[in-house]
Parts: sequence; structure tokens; C-alpha cells
Amino acid sequence: MTQHTDVVVVGGGQAGLAAGYHLRRQGLDHVILDAEAAPGGSWQHMWDSLHLFSPAEHSSLPGRLMPAQAGETYPDAGHVVDYLADYEKRYGLPVRHDTHVDAVRRAAGRLLVETDTGTWRARAVISSTGRWSRPFLPAVPGRGLFTGRQSHTVNYRSPAQFAGQRVIVVGGGNSGAQIAADLALDGRVEVTWVTQRPPRFLADDIDGRALFDVATARRRALDIGRDDPGGVASLGDIVAVPPVRAARDAGLLTAKPMFARLAADGAQWDDGSRSGADAVIWCTGFRPALTHLAPLNLRGPRGLIPTDGTRALGEPRLHLLGYGDWTGPASATLIGVGRTARDAVREITQLS
Ligand code: FAD
Repeated sequence: MTQHTDVVVVGGGQAGLAAGYHLRRQGLDHVILDAEAAPGGSWQHMWDSLHLFSPAEHSSLPGRLMPAQAGETYPDAGHVVDYLADYEKRYGLPVRHDTHVDAVRRAAGRLLVETDTGTWRARAVISSTGRWSRPFLPAVPGRGLFTGRQSHTVNYRSPAQFAGQRVIVVGGGNSGAQIAADLALDGRVEVTWVTQRPPRFLADDIDGRALFDVATARRRALDIGRDDPGGVASLGDIVAVPPVRAARDAGLLTAKPMFARLAADGAQWDDGSRSGADAVIWCTGFRPALTHLAPLNLRGPRGLIPTDGTRALGEPRLHLLGYGDWTGPASATLIGVGRTARDAVREITQLS
């Protein structure tokens, strides 16, 4: 049986909930379909020591400030999960957990959303499926030859998983730096951190709040036709959160250049140097989880769906939230997604 609604939101992490908040305010009938069994999106799966890079009050969704976490300036992932669970309940958001969306298709001026529990027909779809379910591993020579353990950011929990081992952490972004720092500070793991280019640490006083301000200023400048003042990426890649700072200051976080290939027992560089390893952790990023949108045939360059704001250029009934800056400045952050969710819902109210 096909059910009908105004808007189907695919994905019930922070982006999906921010969409639900604005849909509810506009009085639009909607449903939020989420593959997770419980609230919290991918925050449920982050590693044990992960803390936000912004204080709680600067990590809030629309309508409700994130409460401070006792004893922590920067809340941990569990605190975010609690906040999102409370948010879902407080606003009575119609989230259906344990529901995986397989496909979105066009059908007679509407969109059909096919799930593992049935089909929905909607005037519009907001896709907010994030990136966590699509870890990216680069094609490095010899990757298949390595006999040790290979894992990705998504599988990392704590240094205990690697106690007594030699571990190569690959990646010069926030995940790579934080996981390398976590392992190095623990003391039980021999860590080699490798990055494609020398790591670029942001100044110590730049946290997520400052990054949001930079993204906002850039958007304002571009909107009024000024020259691009440079976005967040022009400042650096790695937020110097306390553990990263501690490891860096203790001299434990010096990166080697990316190795040329993996062999059975470790990594090899072109200058002939080698590093034996029991495990490699690929902190090499993600791709947006867009498989369910394949029937719409919207993919553009780099596998992304071209958008005007959040609206897909090739399908005016589809909006994309979160994922990255291509769906709006800071759309993939707690503090930033509210604004893009509001804009998306505003456009949807104007659809026939
Ligand atoms: P997700 O949280 O991934 O939620 C997407 C949801 O969609 C999930 O529940 C998923 O199961 C579901 N889903 C996926 N596919 C389907 C499908 N086909 N059908 C149904 N459901 C589906 N941001 C900050 O603001 N501050 C930080 O400090 C911060 N730290 C970060 C640290 C790390 C390591 C990472 C990776 C990101 C961090 N971010 C941070 C960025 C961002 O806030 C998070 O990635 C956040 O989880 C993104 O929310 P989302 O709702 O877009 O996606």
C-alpha cells in the first residue's frame, strides 16, 4: 500500500530533525524515515573520546539550545545523541526508525519513496542521509597485499582495540589527527601518522563557532557580489581540539608523507624507507550517501548532485541537506544545518 504525505525526509540525523522542525512550523504533513534503530544519526557510532569542536550552545539545532554537559566545555558524542533524542521527542517529530529508503523515483508529478517497509508518495523529498554510511578508501597500490588489519574512521572506537600494535593512521583531516592523537596519548600503541600534504593546524583559538562565522561571512560576501574572502579551508584543515593540541605539543603528532605502497607487512616509501605495521586506519573521508537517489539520474561532476541552495537543479521537488558545503554553508554542522533546513522548507511551501 502506498501512503501519502506532503514531504518525506530521508535520514533522521541532525539534518533530518532540523528539517522536521521547520516542516512542523510550516504545518506541512511529513514523515522522517531513518535507517537507524535509535535516535542520534551517526553520532551513535563515533569513537569513545570524540568531543565536539564547539561548545554546546554553539552546537544547537533550531528552537532548542544544546544544554551544557557537566564538566565539559566541548560535549562528547553521547551528549549529542541525548540532545538529538530529546529534540525528536520534544517536537514530536514523526521519525520512523529502522526504515531504510531504497529508492526515490518520479511518478506523475510527485516523488515515490520506496522503503523496506512500504512506499510513500510525496510532493517533495528532503534527502539528509549524511556520509557516515559511505566510508571512502583510496586506491593505494598494495592495499590488497597487506596482511594486517585495515579499518576506517567508522570502525574506530578506542586505543584498546590496538593495544600493543604498530598502527599507521592515514589522513590529514580532523579524523586522522584526532585518532592519531588518541592512539599516541594512550601510550600502548606505536603510531605512525601519514598525510598527503603537511598537516595544516588551525590556530588554537579557532573552534567550530569561529568556523561557522567564517562560513557565514563568506556566504554574505558572495551573496552581495563581493570577492570571495576565502572559506574555512583557507584557514587550515585541523581544529586544534584539546587532545590534538596535547599530542602536538608533546611532539607526538608529527606526520610523515603518504607512503607509496603497502606490502604484506607494512608501508613503503619511494625513498626506500619502510614502516612495519599490524594495522592501518584509513581516515580518508566519506562520500555522500546518495544511492537511493540514483533512479532520478541527477549526479553531476565528482558524483555530487548539482544544487541551487538545497534544491536539486534537475528535480525541483528534491532538496539536499547536510552532506557538505555544496548544499549550503556549514550545512553539515549542528549549528549550520538549521538555516539551510529553513530555506529548503520555505521553498517547498511554494511548490504546487
Ligand atoms: P548523519 O548523522 O549521518 O545522519 C544521517 C541519517 O540518515 C543516519 O541516521 C542514517 O542511518 C540515515 N540514512 C542514511 N541512508 C539512509 C537511507 N537510505 N534510508 C534511511 N535512512 C538513511 N559537526 C559539528 O557541528 N560539530 C562537530 O564537532 C563535528 N564533529 C564531527 C566529527 C566527525 C568525526 C565527523 C565525521 C563529523 C563531525 N561533524 C561535526 C559533522 C556533522 O555534524 C556530523 O557528520 C553529523 O552527523 C551530520 O549529520 P547528518 O544528519 O547530516 O548525517
